Amino acid sequence: MPGLADLELIASSCTKCPLAGGRTTVVFGEGDPRASLMVVGEGPGRDEDLQGRPFVGRSGQLLDRLLAEEMGLDRKQVYIANVVKCRPPGNRDPEPAEIDACRPFLEQQVDLIDPKLVLTLGNFATRVLLGTKEGITKLRGRSYPYRRGMLVPTFHPAAALRGGGEVLSQMRADFVRAHQFLVPA
Ligand code: URA
Repeated sequence: MPGLADLELIASSCTKCPLAGGRTTVVFGEGDPRASLMVVGEGPGRDEDLQGRPFVGRSGQLLDRLLAEEMGLDRKQVYIANVVKCRPPGNRDPEPAEIDACRPFLEQQVDLIDPKLVLTLGNFATRVLLGTKEGITKLRGRSYPYRRGMLVPTFHPAAALRGGGEVLSQMRADFVRAHQFLVPA
């Protein structure tokens, strides 16, 4: 299996789906390759596409805040990636064929990082990794055994930015729930 750097290099010239045509950069992922926590979002937005880094726009600022306030973690201590590595035009939802084309990158990232805990943000990441069609509102609120660790699903930060206080407080509860899997008993 290639290492993370090899994989990033391969991804940087990927043309397996139409998203390649509209991207500025491939947003592969970033953070500590030995992190216990891996965070998985949906796909790059405008800011991420321009900077080549995941979660650097408004959603990213909220993610950073929740990591700090509910887990005491800086983003440098975790690994952050997305389901699709290239920006869907106009921030539309990624298509099933795009998700399938990108899936090997995400799966190899999870294999290489081998986190104790995966925190999925929103429908797409949660559905892809749990292999379900169920929605995030039903899936959140509990944890799931996943590979060699656990998976905790929560809302996407964009939902909290749109939906206000109730979504945000449920996200806070999910981050606290997730944090228990990182703390040695
Ligand atoms: N939303 C995502 O799902 N991922 C990003 O990287 C930024 C916003």
